[in-house]
Amino acid sequence: MARRIEQYLPRQFLELVKDISEQAAEQGQSIYLVGGIVRDMLLGYPNFDIDLVIEGDAVKLAQHVAETSRARLLTHHRFGTAKLKYENFTLDLATARKETYSRPGALPTVTPGTLKDDLFRRDFSINAMAISLASNDYGKLVDPYSCKSDLEHHLIRVLHPESFSDDATRILRGACYEQRFGFEFETETAHLLERDIPMLDTVSGDRIRHELEHIFEENRPEIVIKRLGELGVLHRITPYLESDGWIAEKFDKARHLNKPTQLPSLYFCLLIYSFSEKEIEQFLARLNIPAKLSRVMRDTLGIKDRLPLLDKPSVKPSEIYYLLRDYEHLAIQANAIASESATIHRHLQLFLAKLRYVKTSLDGEELKRLGISAGPEMGKILRILHKAKLDGEVKTRADEGNLALSLKAGDFPIDPKHPRD
Ligand code: ATP
Ligand code: MG
Repeated sequence: MARRIEQYLPRQFLELVKDISEQAAEQGQSIYLVGGIVRDMLLGYPNFDIDLVIEGDAVKLAQHVAETSRARLLTHHRFGTAKLKYENFTLDLATARKETYSRPGALPTVTPGTLKDDLFRRDFSINAMAISLASNDYGKLVDPYSCKSDLEHHLIRVLHPESFSDDATRILRGACYEQRFGFEFETETAHLLERDIPMLDTVSGDRIRHELEHIFEENRPEIVIKRLGELGVLHRITPYLESDGWIAEKFDKARHLNKPTQLPSLYFCLLIYSFSEKEIEQFLARLNIPAKLSRVMRDTLGIKDRLPLLDKPSVKPSEIYYLLRDYEHLAIQANAIASESATIHRHLQLFLAKLRYVKTSLDGEELKRLGISAGPEMGKILRILHKAKLDGEVKTRADEGNLALSLKAGDFPIDPKHPRD
């Protein structure tokens, strides 16, 4: 493995690791690469999330390293973890630990342990290997539970029968790895998973949401969502949650149209697109969705209800603007992706690309100079100017000035629907 490490990890990191492992040795501590990075190194996939486990005291070691290098240090004494932030990357150091669960779904009780304990607490065998970085056995694969064979046979296996009931988020994590790598659940693990689906009820909303967010960072989250549907996981989270071909098609479309930073929120909106008002409230509560995303998701359904108004080719830009202006932009995006009507799509895109930026050339100060006094009259005039500009009825400052003066003279167009508007 030593040669493989040298080829796989960035040079900068290798030099640093040598330095850290020397300091660890001086303190009588052992240091290992663990988890996802070991798995991906064996599979030959890139991964630069560098997790280190220390047999000893990770915080003490990290403090020592920070004193002698230019790293920024963040520590969590309670969990025995530390982060060293360098200019181009971050190292996560954790004290090897043992975990016990007082009841299903509870957060584990953590005590210091050996590397072997630390590997045993992990979700799946493919994540339960380590590579020593100490100079005397640099590059040695540490695999006390014979996990390498599972990786070679493309199997997702839990390390003990109570794994899913201790922490049912592992059900979501398992489906994610299965789909990402094209692996299969080992037979006994598949039975345990099926048995423990009801244990999802013991997991907090935050933790389930966190795993969904993790899934939404996959290249193709829709295949994980589909699998979670087949396994009965989605129904267990919320009875109305489905994973049909529609979701797959729309997730794919979202990816082609949007910035990666917005994708997770868009996926959430598309996931609940078929929900009723009652259903979405249950979903938001079950997953403890934060206020901002809740607003985007509620707006998505609010806009969906009003889409028929946008399905006429004759609808005016000002009508589009005033229909959509109070909604979250991401909710408008979600509807542009979800809607099957080309007309609706065009109108939503027109709002996002153009209408939302349209401003009148004249502002309140300039209207005052034309003799229009501040107050309700000015408000009305500004709104009429804005609508006229949106609809292309005025183009220049002079057009706006003329319209404002004619309105001041009492020439208000009467809107039959809103005579007092
Ligand atoms: P990814 O490539 O998806 O980031 P990862 O293996 O790095 O995969 P993380 O979510 O970053 O996954 O978690 C890091 C490590 O922590 C995992 O490899 C796994 O060993 C462990 N882990 C994470 N969540 C759990 C859990 N719920 N139960 C047990 N071990 C877990
Ligand atoms: Mg990771």
